[in-house]
Amino acid sequence: MPVTVASEWLNSCSGCEIALVDLGERLLDVLNLVEFVHIPVLLDHKYFGQTGEKKHVDIPEAQVGIISGGIRNEEHKEIALHMRSRCQIIIALGTCATHGGIPALANSFLVSEIVERCFTTETTDDNPRTFEAPVPPLLDACYALDEHIPVDVYLPGCPPHPDQFYEALTALLQGATPELPTKSVCDTCPTVREGKGKLSKLRRFLHNPHYRSPDEPLDKMRCLLEQGFLCMGPVTRAGCGGDAKTPRCLAARVPCRGCYGPVRHDGNPMLEMLNALASNGIDVKSLPEFTSLLRFAGAHRLLRPSRQRKES
Ligand code: SF4
Ligand code: SF4
Repeated sequence: MPVTVASEWLNSCSGCEIALVDLGERLLDVLNLVEFVHIPVLLDHKYFGQTGEKKHVDIPEAQVGIISGGIRNEEHKEIALHMRSRCQIIIALGTCATHGGIPALANSFLVSEIVERCFTTETTDDNPRTFEAPVPPLLDACYALDEHIPVDVYLPGCPPHPDQFYEALTALLQGATPELPTKSVCDTCPTVREGKGKLSKLRRFLHNPHYRSPDEPLDKMRCLLEQGFLCMGPVTRAGCGGDAKTPRCLAARVPCRGCYGPVRHDGNPMLEMLNALASNGIDVKSLPEFTSLLRFAGAHRLLRPSRQRKES
């Protein structure tokens, strides 16, 4: 009997669903083992019955529920609670679901500021005030999934690497619990570390890092943090390289942005990165702003509107 799977997307861009498509030929193996009973990215399945005949949301029961995206409005919350009641196992797919992701950057603003910015400024629309019922009301913040429902399996990544997704799915199909890497991006990065860099100030990533030639192997290039670039590798969970292991951005000689979220699920990348910068001899005051250290992990109340804004 195939395993029944329900999939939902909440406050997300649908990029995580690409991890499913990117399974390539392995998708054929997966499709032999699962039966998708609900997957809006592929199949038109209405929440209130196909003709709108039901009074309540009705998603079919499934053994596995996959949810991408965090929870930003009342509809997301209702669907997440319903999925939890219908699915035996819930997978939080992608960093928006595990830690809020990019949309949680908005958590440094009040809802009123967001609405004003989006609906009443710089518009080319003749009738810009369109934010009214039946648009689902916004919650006070963008939440990670586990702030509203219990989550069984976390698969971070923006998007998660298809190798990891495949590994997790096959483990679940065999009745095992998938395990996440417990190391940091630095632990899987082949660049050369020589100790503290010479720079005491961060450099903006406007120029290429130093390496001799494009053919020079990565294990000959000096660590980007030691070259003075803001590389979030020390505080970011490994895994983005999939089976190849080499972190994806570093393979392109670009600093890690932190898209796999903190190494420990409840870590605080902002505090941990400030610590890493200081240990590397970099003056943290040379950071133009701190919010970007929580670029992917602003849920769990890590990013909040400033006190000044709240009071004004
Ligand atoms: S800080 Fe960046 S470049 Fe340096 S080891 Fe870590 S991931 Fe690699
Ligand atoms: S190197 Fe960092 S930002 Fe780049 S894909 Fe990996 S975790 Fe994400």
